[in-house]
Amino acid sequence: MRLKYKDIERRFKVPANGKIRLKDFDPAWIGNKELRVAPKGELKARASAYLKDNLTALTEAQGALWANDRHAVLVVLQAMDGAGKDGVIRHVMGGVNPQGCQVFSFKKPSDEELDHNFLWRYTLALPERGRIGIFNRSYYEDVLVVRVHPAILERQKLPAELLGKSLWKDRFDDINAFERHLVRNGTVVLKFFLHMSKKEQRKRFLARLDDPAKNWKFSDADIDEREHWNDYQAAFEDAINHTSTKCAPWWVVPADNKWVTRSVVSAVITHSIEALGLKMPVVSTVRQQELVEARQRLGGEASP
Ligand code: AMP
Ligand code: MG
Repeated sequence: MRLKYKDIERRFKVPANGKIRLKDFDPAWIGNKELRVAPKGELKARASAYLKDNLTALTEAQGALWANDRHAVLVVLQAMDGAGKDGVIRHVMGGVNPQGCQVFSFKKPSDEELDHNFLWRYTLALPERGRIGIFNRSYYEDVLVVRVHPAILERQKLPAELLGKSLWKDRFDDINAFERHLVRNGTVVLKFFLHMSKKEQRKRFLARLDDPAKNWKFSDADIDEREHWNDYQAAFEDAINHTSTKCAPWWVVPADNKWVTRSVVSAVITHSIEALGLKMPVVSTVRQQELVEARQRLGGEASP
């Protein structure tokens, strides 16, 4: 079983200046017909074998990224609560050298952060060359949760004359310029919206309430936010359509099945690194001679 990259790209990559509608994407997508009809146990076994393969490829790609030390990869994860961001992060981190990967989770901004421009706190957390940086939530919250809850915008203390109708459009422009700047400086920018159905979210919240082992995951705020479901979907759709660009596209990833979500995200990260065409660095002939000399010095030592 394989999810082919070309197929993933055709289905889930949002075109630049796209006019997508989220309702045209199936959150419960599960691959080809063969998989749709496979018995549950078999599907699970094949999915876990696929995920393992998928991680082996990612490990190799990350090795080249780290060794070359020229590019960075920024992975932005956005979703409704319960869509599986944490699981995706665990999966991706499971395949990489921890030194070459970092994760930042963004919560409500502090007073200090609110005293700066909205992109400030995110720029401090960008990945260095050679690394994959995962943003668990990101500057997109500033056109999502902040748009859905006008009271949060008030806390941002913007001058009154900037609070006009064009505020969201201005932020989209700023985000596009910011991402283009990153790309022009060697960062690959990959943005994933984990697209889960409202029905699946209810199921997952109920599991958090009913299963004592999952109780800790439940937060009252999750249910409050669920009541704004339609506003969030509209905000996501608008943000995705305004900020899917050629250099930094969005991916709308089916999130009702966890293995599909994890497979699609890690396949896109792997492919994007592979597309950089990085080779493991080869040392120059001068350097090779130096290595021979180093070898001779070590060889000259008496064995312990
Ligand atoms: P969680 O990721 O479940 O721990 O929740 C983090 C909370 O912080 C979510 O409710 C986010 O919407 C909120 N949050 C993240 N970034 C921002 C932001 N820039 N402005 C306001 N709230 C934010
Ligand atoms: Mg939460």
